[in-house]
Amino acid sequence: MHATVVLQREGDVGQVIIDNPPVNALSLAVREQLLQRLQEALADSAIQAIVIACQGRTFVAGADLKAFDLPLQAPHLPDVLAAIEQASKPVVAALHGSAFGGGLELALACHYRVAAPDAQFALPEVSLGLIPGAGGTQRLPRLCGAQVALAMVLGGERIGAAQALSIGLLDRLSDASVLACATHFAREVMDKPIPRACDRSVPEFDPQVFHERAQALLRKTPGQEAPAIALQALQDAWQLPFAEGIARERERFIARRHSEQARALRHVFFAERDLASRCRALARQAPTRPIDLVAVVGAGTMGSGIALCLANAGFATRLIDTQPEALARGRATIDRYFSSVVEKGRLDTDEAARRATLIEFDSSIEGVARADLVIEAVFEDLAVKQAVFRQLDRFAKPGAILATNTSYLDIDAIAAVTTRSGDVIGMHFFSPAHVMKLLEVVRTSQVQADVLATVLQLGERLGKTAVAVGNCYGFVGNRLLAVREREASFLLEEGATPEDVDRVIRQFGFPMGPFELRDLAGVDIAWRNRQGRAEQLSAAERSCNWIEQLHEAGRLGQKTAAGFYRYEDGQRRGLPDPYVARMLVAHRQSRGLEPRVIDDEEILDRCLFAMIHEAANLLEQGIVDSPNDIDLVWIHGYGFPRYRGGLLYHADRVGLSRIVEGLSRWTALRPERGLRVSALLQSMAAQGCSFIRPFLSGS
Ligand code: NAD
Repeated sequence: MHATVVLQREGDVGQVIIDNPPVNALSLAVREQLLQRLQEALADSAIQAIVIACQGRTFVAGADLKAFDLPLQAPHLPDVLAAIEQASKPVVAALHGSAFGGGLELALACHYRVAAPDAQFALPEVSLGLIPGAGGTQRLPRLCGAQVALAMVLGGERIGAAQALSIGLLDRLSDASVLACATHFAREVMDKPIPRACDRSVPEFDPQVFHERAQALLRKTPGQEAPAIALQALQDAWQLPFAEGIARERERFIARRHSEQARALRHVFFAERDLASRCRALARQAPTRPIDLVAVVGAGTMGSGIALCLANAGFATRLIDTQPEALARGRATIDRYFSSVVEKGRLDTDEAARRATLIEFDSSIEGVARADLVIEAVFEDLAVKQAVFRQLDRFAKPGAILATNTSYLDIDAIAAVTTRSGDVIGMHFFSPAHVMKLLEVVRTSQVQADVLATVLQLGERLGKTAVAVGNCYGFVGNRLLAVREREASFLLEEGATPEDVDRVIRQFGFPMGPFELRDLAGVDIAWRNRQGRAEQLSAAERSCNWIEQLHEAGRLGQKTAAGFYRYEDGQRRGLPDPYVARMLVAHRQSRGLEPRVIDDEEILDRCLFAMIHEAANLLEQGIVDSPNDIDLVWIHGYGFPRYRGGLLYHADRVGLSRIVEGLSRWTALRPERGLRVSALLQSMAAQGCSFIRPFLSGS
């Protein structure tokens, strides 16, 4: 589709209209034509003022990310915006939809801004590893003050039109047509002196408050380079003259554009878009079933969270638990949640009440009768789940989708007890279910195409990143988690400590390490899991029995204030525990394992390479459709640092031959583990392949 920018005359006002579907991104063609149309309007003596507006559903929603891996091409956006700002006739931006990134920077370079009431404003560059590169860090603080600029540039805050008007970002809100309103406004101001952001100085502000807020925002983005650099750029706005500030911003932007983190974040952005478009394609192929009423069976941690998630998305929900006390606990959790969001000002009282009334409570499984979708979230036990599914088969209406939230169990075995296995599917939410973005949608061998399409689409309506995965032990996320925990456990046998492993994993960018996570989730959960899978564990895994030892000692993790760490006075941060140190020594001695010093590089590589190895198995077995899906599962469900692009993106950066070499070396060190390096991985390494096909320009 060709971008066009046209100049049309409305009496003495020149209207420059950008038309570059779908979101009017600032491509090279748009920049070139925008500049030309501006020059034509300036040269036309019949035109006294200029309005810049967009066709379609939004004003310019940002730069053209697809071009970011290509060389920079003139005219550069800052030069186009400088020409707008320096124009001798007043220029008014007519804004609607999402004026984000370069779109907002374009608006800031105009002399006035008029917006439709639904317009939204944001500078999301930092979330892409960048900083605003076309004056955003210099013009925004001059127009709206340092604190607003800080919240938008570092905090990624998105603001609506009413707020934008109150902070001086806008000059007027339009009523009907924003183009007509902006044109009218342009006539009102055409004889007035032209106000330019570059001529203003940053309004006075309290530097101490600014500093404290900036530090608080930086703490929220550990490991990321862009926020600190964006802060430096913002500070230039009051420490340097405008021209110098703009030049420094540009240098910083160009350096960021080529940085590893920005590349990785662009990759994730495109991977997410790719996932969404595959999901839409699937929905086009198969008709979806209507979902109005959802029943959730089991009102525990997950069931209550899932009910909240559904109500927040506007679904009528029936939460069912056969234990009256459990149902009462679920109700209390839900009430507490709605009170707290009102207290925090996230919802007004009426809206919270409206959502709360969407959830009904029921103590009988027969309550599923009218539901279009049933999500089961009872105990993680195959027999218990099968008993529930027999009842669902009996009471649910024909055509209802029957989903299970199991974390590990075989969903084919659950579906098999029903007479409608094609309607059964996995919906694996993460805890807390109303917060976590990931939803693994687990295909069973007999699932109907419309059931899969319906659930994937529902995931989108719930605001989740819904990834379709195959049915296997732990699906994608927990299967890789189990592998990382196993490798971390072997590292303890060989000489590492839980503190070493957790520190290294945290330094890589995860919110916590495997042993901290185990203490949080519960040693008893892992113990039950190992008991249930005793036959599948290798001899080496059975022998590496930290979980059994801790379980026997009653050290179940945070809930008993002791696990791999000890916890004092309800603190969530664990302390190293001499008990565990003694346990490690005795265990190694009893197995004749000579401890060695294991450096941080080996710890990190072993944890990640083991996961990469398992990811290759997942691909080979067709559990996922794309390597990107593995990356998205771990970014959205397990805290894999987004700025590192994902597990398999990381694998490609490291190089598959180095990974195969490492795996082979460590396997030789512990032959009793019996690991055979994946043939797929070996052949990919030998052929110089990579996992990820880059989403380069045009893809
Ligand atoms: P939970 O113990 O907090 O809640 C289970 C609830 O199910 C209890 O309230 C119980 O009364 C109810 N229940 C049991 N049998 C029932 C029946 N026959 N009919 C109706 N209700 C019944 O457990 P949870 O942590 O919420 O986990 C539920 C499921 O979600 C499990 O399959 C678990 O593996 C999975 N899961 C848990 C997490 C997590 O972090 N907790 C994360 C993802 C998935």
